[in-house]
Parts: sequence; structure tokens; C-alpha cells
Amino acid sequence: MARCPVCDVEMKEASAQANPGMLIVLDQCGRCGGIWCDKWELFPILPDEADRLDPLNEDLLQQPIGLPKKILYCPRCGDQLQVLRDPFLPPEIQLQRCRQCEGIWLNRGQFGRYKRLQKKTRAEKLHTEKSIQKVVKIAPDPAAWVTTGTRGIFAYPHAEEEPDLSATATLRGAFSLILQALLRLVLGF
Ligand SMILES: [Zn+2]
Ligand SMILES: [Zn+2]
Repeated sequence: MARCPVCDVEMKEASAQANPGMLIVLDQCGRCGGIWCDKWELFPILPDEADRLDPLNEDLLQQPIGLPKKILYCPRCGDQLQVLRDPFLPPEIQLQRCRQCEGIWLNRGQFGRYKRLQKKTRAEKLHTEKSIQKVVKIAPDPAAWVTTGTRGIFAYPHAEEEPDLSATATLRGAFSLILQALLRLVLGF
């Protein structure tokens, strides 16, 4: 049995639903509520499971829990845990990772925050994919593209500043710029 890196008491097993009807068994500390995820366990767990595993506490939500001041050690291999530096993680989400086994420790409240971020990111991705499909559908018909295309994501930049370009060339250029930007959004995260 693994021991909580914060309280040094034995953790309890907690199972959580993951993506394709799979159950993942995590370790949770009955005292501090922190959760240990072995490698690959954190990401596939369904976001709604956080509400059950990581009961929301209004006070904790208002005030991000700081990391414990003491150094934490991996409950699996004893290596020192490191705060995960990820540019996509907002400062209120602090994960501590073991470099050896790549398990992740989440203080109470962090699991829910991480899962809500994941849910949001997925929703945004889905929205972007739909936008790309829209652009691709409109693209073969330049006339339709121009009439719908002067606002929002279809607006083409700098059209007035390039009077020497033919309308078609400008459109084509703008289209590829937009598509590139959208692709970067989808693939970048
Ligand atoms: Zn604990
Ligand atoms: Zn480890």
C-alpha cells in the first residue's frame, strides 16, 4: 500500500471511471483528501468523476491551496516530487510529479480543477473543429465565402492595404492564414 506523501498514512484505493468504460484505481488519502495517480492514470479519468472523488469545498475554491512547504516524496519509488511546470496549466492548478515513475500527486481540490480545465479544453477543441469544417465547406465556393466572409473568423486581414493583389489571390491567402491558425489551435494543445 502506498502512503500519503503529505500525511504519511496509508492511502485507500479509489476507483474512477475512465474513457472507454474503463475503471482506474487511484490512491486517495483519507486524511488530507489528496490523490495519487500512477503514470497515465490522470488524463483518461472522466471529468465528472472529480465531483465524487474531490468533493468541492467552497473555501478551497475561493482560496487556492498552496503546496505544502515540506518536500514530498513519491509513494511508489521514494524519489522527490517536482512541481509540474506546464505552460497550459493555470497557477491555481499545481501538480507534483515523480520523475522516476511519472506518477502525479494532487492535493485536495486540484483533481477537480484539473478535470474542469480538461473538460473546458475539450469543449473548445470541439468548437474549433466545427469551425474548420465550416471553413472547409465554404472554401470551394468563393462567392459564398465572400458574402458570409466579411466578419468574424472569415474576415480577411489587410485586404485594403494590398490593392495590387487580385481579389482571388487575397481570398486564397486569407483562407490559408485562417486555416493555419485554426489548425495550430487544434494541434497546439
Ligand atoms: Zn494525506
Ligand atoms: Zn515515483
